Amino acid sequence: MKGGEVIINDLIEKEKKRQNDTIQLIPSENHTTPAVMEAVGSCLMNKYSEGYPGRRYYEGNEIIDEIERLAIDNAKKLFGVPHANVQPYSGSPANAAILMALLEAGDTIMGLKLSGGGHLTHGHPQVTFSGKFFKSVQFGLDEKNARIDIKKVAELASQHRPKLMIIGNTAYPFELYFDQFAKIADEIGAWLVADISHVAGLVVAGEHPDPVPHAHIVMTTTHKTLRGPRGAMILVTEKGLQRDPDLGGKIDRAVFPGLQGGPHNNTTAGIAVALEEALQPPFKTYAKQIRLNAKVLAAALQEKGLQIVGGGTQTHLMIIDLRNWGGGTQLAAAMAAAGLFANKNTVPDEPHSPFYPSGVRIGTPAVTTRGMQEKEMEQIAAWIAEIESLTKKFSLPSDKLERRQLVKEVKQWAAQQARLKEIREEVGELCRQFPVA
Ligand SMILES: *Cc1c(COP(=O)(O)O)cnc(C)c1O
Repeated sequence: MKGGEVIINDLIEKEKKRQNDTIQLIPSENHTTPAVMEAVGSCLMNKYSEGYPGRRYYEGNEIIDEIERLAIDNAKKLFGVPHANVQPYSGSPANAAILMALLEAGDTIMGLKLSGGGHLTHGHPQVTFSGKFFKSVQFGLDEKNARIDIKKVAELASQHRPKLMIIGNTAYPFELYFDQFAKIADEIGAWLVADISHVAGLVVAGEHPDPVPHAHIVMTTTHKTLRGPRGAMILVTEKGLQRDPDLGGKIDRAVFPGLQGGPHNNTTAGIAVALEEALQPPFKTYAKQIRLNAKVLAAALQEKGLQIVGGGTQTHLMIIDLRNWGGGTQLAAAMAAAGLFANKNTVPDEPHSPFYPSGVRIGTPAVTTRGMQEKEMEQIAAWIAEIESLTKKFSLPSDKLERRQLVKEVKQWAAQQARLKEIREEVGELCRQFPVA
């Protein structure tokens, strides 16, 4: 075991160095604070505590109860909700628990398509539990401006009458108007679930429309803009309780014993810490800067001739549109070689393939945590634009085998390319000025 430990320690140090020396632009990632990491790495992980505070199936949970109550109280305070469950292991199981609490198998749900920026758990057909065990109706984006067309949503809703609408985004760069979705849901008597996994940090800082007055249930992961540990929370709103006074109980029973066993108490403690941090005034400044940075980054990329899906961003993320050369995979790979980490992503009505998509998704939560501001966004945009122009010669072939070959070729090229190596050095230099805490 000792040998294993040494290897893992070594690998952790290497990963720490990677995170420190390179720029993380994946919009679902962040750098948590040392206080959060300390809580997550603590002895709290040793304790079993199936059940809820004051109602456990195991002895010795007095302190764990205090920790979970603190996390719950912080969640209620931060979001202004009467009920919170902080036990979901992550966002996907949290959404599974919500569907389990409110629906029977075969009921109809409605959500934003994956290709429009929705999440797998919002009814993506066939390969997911949400698409397999429920009838799923999905809406896309307006072709012209890449925005959700609320009139279309209303039409689809009145046609299919879903029992539940789950509204959220992982790759949709614009604001979600929950009041408009609520109007539609209320008209057909559907449950409205707001999945704010990506934008929760913006919501609590007043930098994104707040779903709490409009949805019955709000779900969020805790590790994205909220900057906590990997985990999730299910919040029940006043509106939700008005519709069903037992909604909190239903959610709690769906999480445990419905779907999960013992909560990860170390994560619960990390969530309590992160929520405490988000309740402090500096978090508002942070969230404001995330959005400002995203806006500046998008504008700088556009100024350098790159297309951005929908013409920009209102949130923390944007999608670079490379439809003209089918270059999502290639650009993301070349950026990685230069120390700029992002992910390939489909664009609305993806003309190529989801495996070789035409977009690259980038976001600012992690770089903003490091203290980077507008000036650094301009620099990052300049690097990305330069890398794009270098990589553009690798346009996407239509033959499948050739495509696979091309990706290999791009990676080999990128590992050798002199200017990419130089950019990698420049990135390292910038990173040294903005160390991860
Ligand atoms: C990230 C995300 C999830 C899933 O969270 P995991 O922790 O990865 O399971 C669910 N919904 C949305 C909108 C997300 O962005």
